[in-house]
Amino acid sequence: MPAAHDTSADRPDTEPVLYERRGAVAYVTLNRPRYRNAQNSAMTYALDAAFYRAAEDGEVKVVVLGGAGDHFSAGHDIGSPGRDAHLPFGRRAGLWWDHTDKAGAESRFARESEVYLGMCRRWRELPKPVVAAVRGACVAGGLMLAWVCDLIVASEDAFFADPVVRMGIPGVEYFAHPWVMPPRIAKEFLYTGDRMTARRAYEIGMVNKVVADGELTSSVDELAQRIARMPRLGLALAKRAVNQAEDLQGLHTGLDSVFGLHHLAHAHNAETAADPLGGMDVAAMKRAGS
Ligand code: ZN
Repeated sequence: MPAAHDTSADRPDTEPVLYERRGAVAYVTLNRPRYRNAQNSAMTYALDAAFYRAAEDGEVKVVVLGGAGDHFSAGHDIGSPGRDAHLPFGRRAGLWWDHTDKAGAESRFARESEVYLGMCRRWRELPKPVVAAVRGACVAGGLMLAWVCDLIVASEDAFFADPVVRMGIPGVEYFAHPWVMPPRIAKEFLYTGDRMTARRAYEIGMVNKVVADGELTSSVDELAQRIARMPRLGLALAKRAVNQAEDLQGLHTGLDSVFGLHHLAHAHNAETAADPLGGMDVAAMKRAGS
């Protein structure tokens, strides 16, 4: 695994996700630092393989998810040379059909059901505690990844944002906003698209801990080691118990109902604007946010 601040450029042969086990902790690292760990499908499926491996390995008690370089994840890949949304991958999240030979809303719904909503739900069910180590950007699709983790430790420089309302879309595909933050804060977060600081995220209960930038790795390690002293089944059942409580509070059905609104927005954009993202590319999103 590279050092936490490794900013080595992506090479074509670079693995999009790194995996290493040290003792009872599996370290899973998003590894596209040149693109602030933007998630393409290659990364999504590599991440799924890493989580599967961690779940399967009897030696692993706790998983740590982090990002190589200075950022956790800037979101889904909407503009890097490695963008691969048009390519087929072996589907794992569900039995819905492949998107690549379909058109319009049918294609979008198929793809996002699999790689966004489906995968996030699948990862949330990993029966071992997952700790997100967040530094720098945790934006849009990056939020989805952090939110499916059980605990979030953020460094002082971390920030959180969901700016996709600028695309006319009501938030990212995994719409956990009103469950991970109070509803009024969720509205402010969406309406403004502003960055939420790590401190603010802590104040509203969205992250467990904020630490100095240089202490993120050691702090997460220490937390993971402590959790790893608990019995495996106890941890798995405790995780399921809290996840079930969230679902009883409407998370599961809430995600499904907003996913429909999300696809209404994509379809509206496709009918009326340049594309399903409302003509907003990476540069346009940056300009709008400045
Ligand atoms: Zn979408």
